[in-house]
Amino acid sequence: MNFLTLASECDTKNNAVSFLQTRGILHNPRLCKNKHEMVLQLTEKQDRWCCSKRECRQYAPLRADNFLASSRLDYETIVMFIYCWSKEYTSIMFCKEELNMNHNTTVDWNMYMREVCEYTSTNNSAKIGGVNTTVEIDESCFSMFNFKLALLHNLNFVTYNKCAPSYQYATTIL
Ligand SMILES: [Zn+2]
Repeated sequence: MNFLTLASECDTKNNAVSFLQTRGILHNPRLCKNKHEMVLQLTEKQDRWCCSKRECRQYAPLRADNFLASSRLDYETIVMFIYCWSKEYTSIMFCKEELNMNHNTTVDWNMYMREVCEYTSTNNSAKIGGVNTTVEIDESCFSMFNFKLALLHNLNFVTYNKCAPSYQYATTIL
């Protein structure tokens, strides 16, 4: 998959969310605390899960309990940024002109991705999660690094190359 294919596949919020769901970054499905299956509601106002049992009345934000919990960047841009980052295209200028990202957001996301790779290079951790699996945040068991790492691995944008020096990574296409 190249930039054009990915951009056309993730051209809307719904499509980008589906993409992230199929890679286990977002829940799919999600259960409420009473173990009922929840229904995803994507609107202009909010993106949330709603329990399918009306009497249960449980809701959960789409970005709760997953990698994107601390991010406000739209889903389409997140997918494209990670792809571009794996190709070393995420300069301030590129992200401003091509992804409509402001300076601070670009800096934050570049740091975020770098932390993942630094962690990967020192720990060489195994893949977490996978297709039809959502990696739940349980801070008592895992550090945020684990979740950032799993984000990259799940998307298959980046593969750590054991033979390479710390800051060199082999990249793979989806
Ligand atoms: Zn419920």
